[in-house]
Amino acid sequence: MRLKNVPGAREAVDASPLVLKNAEDLKGRWSSQVFGNSHPVHLEIGMGKGRFLTALALRNPDVNYVGIEKYTSVLYRAVQRREEAELSNLFYLNEDAEKLESFFGPGEVGRIYLNFSDPWPKDRHHKRRLTSREFLQRYVRVLAPGGAVEFKTDNRNLFAFSLEEAEASGWTVADITWDLRKSPMYEGNIMTEYEEKFSLLGEKIMKMILLPPAGAEVL
Ligand code: SAM
Repeated sequence: MRLKNVPGAREAVDASPLVLKNAEDLKGRWSSQVFGNSHPVHLEIGMGKGRFLTALALRNPDVNYVGIEKYTSVLYRAVQRREEAELSNLFYLNEDAEKLESFFGPGEVGRIYLNFSDPWPKDRHHKRRLTSREFLQRYVRVLAPGGAVEFKTDNRNLFAFSLEEAEASGWTVADITWDLRKSPMYEGNIMTEYEEKFSLLGEKIMKMILLPPAGAEVL
């Protein structure tokens, strides 16, 4: 995501009730304090400008969604989009997902979406990739039994790395395609901003659905 200094973004994000503050205080209380219902809570990490999550929240009113985006200028666009949509099941955190376990308790998350995550191509940055074993371990600690991670990308190297990391960490690949548009997994697909850009360029999109190791949530 190109980072521009968008004038007023910081102030607008700080003032927006859609961007929840003091997320540590919400740990273990998302159902009771934020959403006021017991619907499952699904996350998108690195959600960018929020198109995917807004469409998903409109499609599934019985699921609660939280978008996590670390860059304020990008999140600002998502806030504007969210203000245009009539939704009570979507909120945002302006946070780094490295601190995921400070925001969500064990079993509090039903599903995690990772879309077109930054590839961090240099080896020495591999721990920053959102599908590294370090991040997978964070997901294990917040996912509910039956939870899953859904990952889409146009980047073959990142996709192959993610597969290796998942298998090395004991995750199960429930479904996978190296060409999403030609796969049954394409049914019901919601395009993200990046996905649209790469699809228009004729790039293949890849997708995998991962299930955490059995019993891992008690770690
Ligand atoms: N998901 C969107 C899409 O598909 O259009 C945006 C993709 S963009 C390449 C990746 C986004 O992930 C960026 O906006 C970046 O700021 C965010 N991001 C990367 N690492 C993150 C982290 N550790 N915590 C929160 N956001 C992160």
